[in-house]
Amino acid sequence: MPQRTFSIIKPDAVRKGYTGAILAELDRAGFRIVAAKKQSISKPQAEGFYHVHKERPFFGDLCTFMSSGPLFLMVLEKDNAIADLRKLMGATNPANAEEGTIRKKFAGSIQENAIHGSDAEETAAFEIGYWFAGYELI
Ligand code: ATP
Ligand code: MG
Repeated sequence: MPQRTFSIIKPDAVRKGYTGAILAELDRAGFRIVAAKKQSISKPQAEGFYHVHKERPFFGDLCTFMSSGPLFLMVLEKDNAIADLRKLMGATNPANAEEGTIRKKFAGSIQENAIHGSDAEETAAFEIGYWFAGYELI
């Protein structure tokens, strides 16, 4: 059974014109796009999305960054989608990301790190439901 995960091409990567190149990486890795939309999000929307990080020192900056410009929200599907996307993304800090990963290629810093991917089944379910209505998943 294919698995679904949630991903964001973050505002830094959209600003730098990397959207197409990142979509090509996802396509080459075998992910099917179930849903996708480009939009800007508000800071309160970012705070709700990243609520698990609300006690972290970087929370305010992170939510300001995520609401700083348009981003791409996506639901992706393939076998083992959650773990495979995390592997393709690379480490949170691009300085530690492996060669060939999206963050190695496209991320600028630990905060402006180009892409988000859900880290577990429960978070994927929350994140998909946070940004997409059921009828948008096709
Ligand atoms: P994501 O959840 O976006 O897929 P991740 O799971 O690799 O990334 P998390 O620990 O969940 O990393 O952190 C969420 C996001 O917060 C990171 O992707 C990054 O944008 C930002 N972040 C994490 N750690 C730091 C830090 N030390 N300083 C600044 N920003 C950070
Ligand atoms: Mg995370």
